Amino acid sequence: MLVVEFKSHREVIELRKYFVKRVVFPLMEKVKGNRIRHYLRELQDSERYDADQIRSLQMEKLQRLLIHCLKNVPAYKELAGLLTTVERDPHRALEGFPVLTKSHFVRHADRYLSDNSDKSELIANRTGGSTGEPVHFYLDRVTVEYYEAARWRGLSWWGIELSDPSVMIWGAPLELSKNQSLIYRLKERFLKNRIIIPAYGLDPRQISHYVRLIESFAPEYLYGYASALSAFASLLGEHNLRIKRPLKGVVSTAETLFDEQRAVIERYLGGPVINEYGARDGGIIAFQCPSGSMHISEENLILEIIDMQTGKRVEDGRSGLVAVTDLNNYSMPRIRYLLGDVASLSPERCPCGRSLRTLKRIEGRVDDLFLSLDGKIVHGHYWNHIARNMKGIRQFQLIQHDPENVTLKVVKSELFDSSEVKQFLEKIEDVLGPVRVNLIYCDSLEPSPSGKIRYARREFPLPSRR
Ligand SMILES: [Zn+2]
Repeated sequence: MLVVEFKSHREVIELRKYFVKRVVFPLMEKVKGNRIRHYLRELQDSERYDADQIRSLQMEKLQRLLIHCLKNVPAYKELAGLLTTVERDPHRALEGFPVLTKSHFVRHADRYLSDNSDKSELIANRTGGSTGEPVHFYLDRVTVEYYEAARWRGLSWWGIELSDPSVMIWGAPLELSKNQSLIYRLKERFLKNRIIIPAYGLDPRQISHYVRLIESFAPEYLYGYASALSAFASLLGEHNLRIKRPLKGVVSTAETLFDEQRAVIERYLGGPVINEYGARDGGIIAFQCPSGSMHISEENLILEIIDMQTGKRVEDGRSGLVAVTDLNNYSMPRIRYLLGDVASLSPERCPCGRSLRTLKRIEGRVDDLFLSLDGKIVHGHYWNHIARNMKGIRQFQLIQHDPENVTLKVVKSELFDSSEVKQFLEKIEDVLGPVRVNLIYCDSLEPSPSGKIRYARREFPLPSRR
C-alpha cells in the first residue's frame, strides 16, 4: 500500500494546484480537445494590440460571421441585400441588422439555428429566468471555450492562475439529488480546485464553520453573485468575523455590483472586489482591470449601446441598452442581441495600457428602472442610496408592479425604528408620485431559484417612443 505523508498543510495545497495544472488540464486537452489554454494565450497577446489592430481583428471576424448569417441562418436570409455593404464595411452593415430582443428570440429561436449546424456537436444552454422567461439557446464549443478564456484572461490581470484554489459563495440551494450533488462537489474540488459554500440561511455556528473551512482551503480568490457575496459578508460582519487570509480578489459576477455591496465585501472578505460583467447568454462581456476599468472582451464580441427610444447607436459616454454580437458562435448566431442591461461606453483609454475599450458605467438592468406617475425614469440605485443610511433596515426590496402600485418589503434589523420606514415611504411618494404602497415586513428576502436577489425591479414595460 502506498502511503504518502505530507509534511505540511502547505504541501497539500501545492499538490492540489499541481494536479489541476499538470494533470487535469493537459488531460482535458488531450481527451476532449479542449483549447481554453490556447485561446487564453491568444487573448493575452491581443490585449496588447493597438486600437487599430483590435478593430481590424474584430472587422475580419464580424465580416465572416455576417456573411455566414446572410447565407445560412433563416432569420437573417431576408437581409441578403446587405451583402455588398458587409463586404465593404461590416461595422456599418451591422447597423442595418435589427436589434434582437430576448422575447423575439425566445419566440423564433429555431429560425436562428444555422442550416449547416450539426446539432450533435452543439452545447445546449439556458438562462435561469430570474429576470423574465428563460432563454434556451445553442453554443459552439469554440464559443464556450472563448468565454472561459476571457474569464481567465481577466483573472490573470490580478495574478490569478488557472489552477489556483477558489471558493464559490453560492446563492442558490443546489438543485441536485444527493448523489449528483456529491459527484458535483468532488468534480469541483478535484478538477477545478474549488469548494462551494452557501450564502443564505446560515446560523451562527455554521458561519464560523465556513470561515474555518475557507481559511483551511486557502483560496487565492472568492467568486459569486454580488448579492450572495454581500449577504455572506454582512453575516460575517454581524458576528464579528472576517476572512483573515489575504486574497488576490473577490470576483463579483452576473449582477450589478452596487457601491455599498462592494464596500461590505471588501471589509469582511479580505480582498479587492473584481467586477466581472458576464451573462449566461452573452459570455464574459467585460472584466475589471486593476486600474478600475471594465475592459470589453472585444476579440469575442462587438458591444454597442442602443438608444432606448430611437433604437439607434448612441455616442460614447451616453447610456443606453447593451447589444452584443458574439463573434464566435456560428451555430446559432444572435446579432445585436439586447441583454436587458443599461450601460455607457467610455471615450477614454485606460491607463493600464490595455487597448481594449472600456465601459464607463454599467447602470444595471433595464428593469431596474422605475417609472414615475408623471413619466420620469428613476433608477433603482436611488432606493439603495436611501436605504443604506437607515440602520433599522437590514434589507429591502421594492417592486413596481404597474405605474400606480408598488410593494416595499422590509427586513428589520435590531435597531429598527419605524420612523425610517415612514421616511422611505415619503421618498417613494416624492419620486414616483402618489402611488399605492403595499408595505410588508418579512424575516428574510428569498433569492430566486438561480440564487439572485433583485432589490429593485419593475414588472411592466416602459412606454416606447420609437
Ligand atoms: Zn485597464
